[in-house]
Amino acid sequence: MAVPGPSSRAAPEALRGGGPRLQILLDFDGTLVEPNVAIVLVERFCPDGQRVAHEIDQELHAGHITLREAWARQVALLPPSRLHEMTDFVAREVPLRRGARRLLGLLREHNVPTAIVSGGLEFFIRPVLAREGLEYPLFADGIEYDGEARLRVVHPYGHPTCRLCGICKANVALRFGAPGVSTVFIGDGSTDKYAAEVAEIVFARHRLQEYCARANVPFFPFDDFDPVTNRLEGWLTGVHPLPPPRSRGLATSACPISQELSRSPPRDVGQGVVR
Ligand SMILES: [Mg+2]
Repeated sequence: MAVPGPSSRAAPEALRGGGPRLQILLDFDGTLVEPNVAIVLVERFCPDGQRVAHEIDQELHAGHITLREAWARQVALLPPSRLHEMTDFVAREVPLRRGARRLLGLLREHNVPTAIVSGGLEFFIRPVLAREGLEYPLFADGIEYDGEARLRVVHPYGHPTCRLCGICKANVALRFGAPGVSTVFIGDGSTDKYAAEVAEIVFARHRLQEYCARANVPFFPFDDFDPVTNRLEGWLTGVHPLPPPRSRGLATSACPISQELSRSPPRDVGQGVVR
């Protein structure tokens, strides 16, 4: 499963200024933007959407269905005949998280390779990225519409065999960008937990924060982006040292990539630091 990234083209740019080599993976719903867009769309564009979305969410968090199953059911609720309306609504109404523009400015200033990795759908993410003038690589699910009454979710970045998640964020976190560059993952929710197990450095809010605390995955908490930006700025300018190395992956994880990584020797965070 190929995960293209800026890799060899963008990584040398990140070395300007002599700071550590970092690359950023940014979740979309509930992270780069305030709301979970799929839930907002289901609630706004589907009859009885609020109740049905809540029921699906309850089943997911009770462990009765997988992320992939929950997502397929949620996407099937979106009315195909109103796709344009939904796209316009998202571009008009979905705000970035507080502090996002300062964070994005810092990443641009330091030429840090950055990508969006989302369990959401490409059709509602691109209008927000276009509105903000962001040309980041995007790893997300897609939709197919075969003339039937329902949309079907497709997983161009799914794991070849594992069926727990739609998009395999763990694989993106493992393979994105240039080898030897530490990956910083920033996320908030259930689809982020395996990427958090795999990335070198994690910023977490909301449910991801609770998960990381329970699973002993080291993380930096945030709600608005200012603590993230401040910390990254300290690292990128060399004012503050990177966090100490940690073991990546969890032996007890349900994610096969995380399990396998837990059996590999630990790698220093910031091993590519150039002084
Ligand atoms: Mg999210």
